Amino acid sequence: MSNRTPIIAANWKMHKTVGEARAFLDSFLPGCDTSGKEVVIAPPFTALAETEAMLRGLDRVHVAAQNMHHEEKGAFTGEISPLMLLDIGVNWVIIGHSERRHIFGESHGFISRKMAAAVRHGLTPILCVGETLEEREAGHTFDVLREQLATAFEPIGEEGAATVVIAYEPVWAIGTGKTASAGQANEAHRFIREWLSNRFNNTIADTKRILYGGSVKPANISKLMAESEIDGVLVGGASLDAASFLEIVNYG
Ligand code: PEP
Repeated sequence: MSNRTPIIAANWKMHKTVGEARAFLDSFLPGCDTSGKEVVIAPPFTALAETEAMLRGLDRVHVAAQNMHHEEKGAFTGEISPLMLLDIGVNWVIIGHSERRHIFGESHGFISRKMAAAVRHGLTPILCVGETLEEREAGHTFDVLREQLATAFEPIGEEGAATVVIAYEPVWAIGTGKTASAGQANEAHRFIREWLSNRFNNTIADTKRILYGGSVKPANISKLMAESEIDGVLVGGASLDAASFLEIVNYG
């Protein structure tokens, strides 16, 4: 058993109006048991302020943005800056989600600049890494992870690295109903920890929270959380329904 505090995170993607976010939290929060763990909820930008207001004052429940731009302001139509997140009390941000990388073409360089900006502004990044099915089948999983980690952490010193949360999300398991086996997840998480140890040091590696993401649901949460290398989960589809996400948060 590690002494890393688990994180159970919800990524609502492009789902939920403000009213729907409010209704979710009204039924979710009274039953949410946060003893010994942290909970993170990442609503779409339009519901961030309302979610932040409803979570304010709760010790171990945080609100996260699903993305941000690295610049503080400027001619970047459609983008949201770190200062805008901080302005509404949002201190966590998901960076490099596979949908950003693969649907919106975010490059390693772009993700690296976002990581630097998050750390510079004191936001806690949840950095997503993971291979596609094609890359796994070609035996390139570790090469892909190595490159994603190297570029994302390139501009970040040891102090900043200590604040980062990592989510290992094999792309082939996201929204597909396929979950990585405990063995596959553990192997990837161990690789990431070893990489952190080589790049930084053992303390960073041993204390780093590495979440698993990819078709997590009430039926598989206990098995995943029983794995020594899995320090929490990032949940998409099964986090949209309050009863389902409550079962995941209150696992065990
Ligand atoms: C995700 O969006 O990060 C994710 C893991 O989605 P799902 O749980 O739906 O596979």
